[in-house]
Amino acid sequence: MKFNFQFKEYSPKTEEVYGTILTLGNGHIGIRGEIELEPTVYGTTVAGIYDYAPYFYREIVNAPRVIGLGMMFNGEPLNLSTHKLLKYERELDIEDGTLKTWIELETNKGARVSYESLRIVHGKRKNVVVLKFKFKADKKGLLTLINPIDVDVANPSYRPEILVKHCYAEELDFGEDFIYAGVKTIDGKYTLGIASSLITDKEANRSVVKSVKGIAEVLSIEVEADRVYEFVKYIVISSERDSALKDETLKELGEVKELGFEKLFAEHREYWSEIWKKAKVEIEGDEEAEKGLNFSLFHLIQSLPRDSNISLTARGIHGFGYRGHVFWDTEIYALPFFIAVFPEDAKRMLMYRYRNLEAAKENAKLNGYKGAQFPWESADDGYEATPPLVPLDMAGREVVRIYTGEEEHHITADIAYTVDLYYKFTNDEDFMAKYGLEIIFETARFWASRVEFDEKKGYVIKKVIGPDEYHEHVDNSFFTNLMARHNLLLGVTYYKEALNKGGQWKKTVERAKVEEEEVWKWREIAEKIYLPPQVNGVFEEFDGYFDLEDYTVDPHGIGEARLPEEIRKKIGKTRLIKQADVIAAQYLLKDQFDIDTIKKNFDYYIVRTTHASSLSMPAYSIVASWLGYGDLAYEYFMKCAYIDLKNLYGNTHDGFHLATAGGVWQTLFRGFCGIDITGDGISINPHLPSKWKAVKFGFSFRGRWLEIRVTPKEVIVKSDEGKEVIKLSIAGREVPLRPNEKIVVPL
Ligand code: BGC
Ligand code: BGC
Repeated sequence: MKFNFQFKEYSPKTEEVYGTILTLGNGHIGIRGEIELEPTVYGTTVAGIYDYAPYFYREIVNAPRVIGLGMMFNGEPLNLSTHKLLKYERELDIEDGTLKTWIELETNKGARVSYESLRIVHGKRKNVVVLKFKFKADKKGLLTLINPIDVDVANPSYRPEILVKHCYAEELDFGEDFIYAGVKTIDGKYTLGIASSLITDKEANRSVVKSVKGIAEVLSIEVEADRVYEFVKYIVISSERDSALKDETLKELGEVKELGFEKLFAEHREYWSEIWKKAKVEIEGDEEAEKGLNFSLFHLIQSLPRDSNISLTARGIHGFGYRGHVFWDTEIYALPFFIAVFPEDAKRMLMYRYRNLEAAKENAKLNGYKGAQFPWESADDGYEATPPLVPLDMAGREVVRIYTGEEEHHITADIAYTVDLYYKFTNDEDFMAKYGLEIIFETARFWASRVEFDEKKGYVIKKVIGPDEYHEHVDNSFFTNLMARHNLLLGVTYYKEALNKGGQWKKTVERAKVEEEEVWKWREIAEKIYLPPQVNGVFEEFDGYFDLEDYTVDPHGIGEARLPEEIRKKIGKTRLIKQADVIAAQYLLKDQFDIDTIKKNFDYYIVRTTHASSLSMPAYSIVASWLGYGDLAYEYFMKCAYIDLKNLYGNTHDGFHLATAGGVWQTLFRGFCGIDITGDGISINPHLPSKWKAVKFGFSFRGRWLEIRVTPKEVIVKSDEGKEVIKLSIAGREVPLRPNEKIVVPL
């Protein structure tokens, strides 16, 4: 694999977009891709570090900028925006996890200066960031380098003119070979220790500057003409809640400096090479698809937190969009990739939900329900973090009322769905018995308290928002009711299984105080839950949807900008929908529908969906594959694979689209390759895009690593060693897969 992505255009606007695309992260630290030589509002993000924010409850903290670098030549500060820029080139190498930069500019005094750098956010050492750079000038002179820890940072907010400061320096210190900032969040919950050191083997004068903006070390060095000078900037950011934070941070800085750049870089490359051995997807005959898909996986992987204090956030590790909150995007769109390829990581993210089960129970109670109700948006403490109001102007005179936090309840069933999916893939008894079961019981309990009984309809769920957020306060959302039913039935199935299995399983039943009578009730509700009726085979998205004004759109377009203003203004009163909703339900619970029904619903809703949410196209693409709408499936897949590289939604600067990236992988897995996990087996029914000659990738199933190669003519599955035979069905044929076996099945 050699996947490099080059960018050659410089402007403050493109920098913000590159900032997202060129982000490097290791799940713990995120450093956006804006060039180190220019000022920017973006600092550093550290997974799980949140602070109280007006309107948004808690938001991810824009922590001090550590990657910045000031450069002066013969007393003249060098800037890309103010000097003649002869060359600007950036290159993201996703194979090695590096960002390279080449700059050439002419100083006002006529010298030609070149700068070259390589940046890593270390894969194996979660606290470490390294920038290696070279400087050359065609005239001799005095080079001054400024290495700052810039604590004067704030979060971009709901208006561009408003910035919210979330941290302050408690301590700024320096020694002979380091600068240090001890930083605390305003609410006092988190502390960061940040240390940095700029190293060169040439003789240099060093001094340190402290100010309200932070601390910086300044190196001055006499350079000769046309000679290359090399520097390494080491950074350690530690967030352990520990009294010895400063000592630990400085100790780690000492260690990495001692090790030196080359060894650190070798470790880092090894980390990525191990990752790609599992994650890589090879596509023969379509390099563009291959690049876009692996690019999506690269960012997904970088965004995956290292511990269970936080989960994957909607806009990636570096994105302030949606304030670093965790949505259903995580369980429904992003986690399936990790469940299949890095199950241990997926488990950790489900543990984030488990750790917040108490908060979810409190949330349910607060709203008058039982069991656990997960928040629509979740931050570091698991409480509801959706802003009820978002101001549109500085004075807060004009506000938008947001109802998702109060009504978008399907998230609770989505989490239970993914707990079950994880268990189906992994058979991880320990997780299920100790934690997963409890999530399933408490969420089933929530739905049992959430439904109301209606004499005519049976059990109904009133006043919700489904995935289609254009329609608020609706009754009996097809998606919500169906997922709630699934959640209740999971409760019933796992209760029975727990009693059969005994041991830890039974202990959890007892701990959660689940009794037979309650489980009977779950079953009764599931059986009598009301689903909106079908009209000509089409499920009504919610009660009364078919009575709304009809309006259709071109399925090849995206967003609302293309709609006439009068339609946009009353969008909630029309049948237009924001994203896959009924279709999302059919993709998640495919087994419950026959293909004709899916087709009727697809054909109806596809021309009424604006795809204003980036979560829409992946679901439609997958279902389009099943229906034989190959061109549309491929079109959506490619749009999703390039959503950020092409800034398709115009908001890439807010962060990478995590759900879409996960959706791209699912399109490959569930759509093009038609893979379903069926109880304890796997079925494969490919529908490859016509130009693909072959696709190859791996995934883990119940402790075994499988490698799949699909071509238009055959499916090859290879298994590593193990004990049991896997029940495999390929294109309808049963082909048991033994350990260490490779089977070839013609299509
Ligand atoms: C999203 C909601 C979200 C709200 C507040 C809206 O744009 O569609 O899902 O809860 O913003 O963050
Ligand atoms: C979508 C939601 C999504 C949220 C965060 C909204 O625009 O409608 O489904 O969870 O964005 O990505």
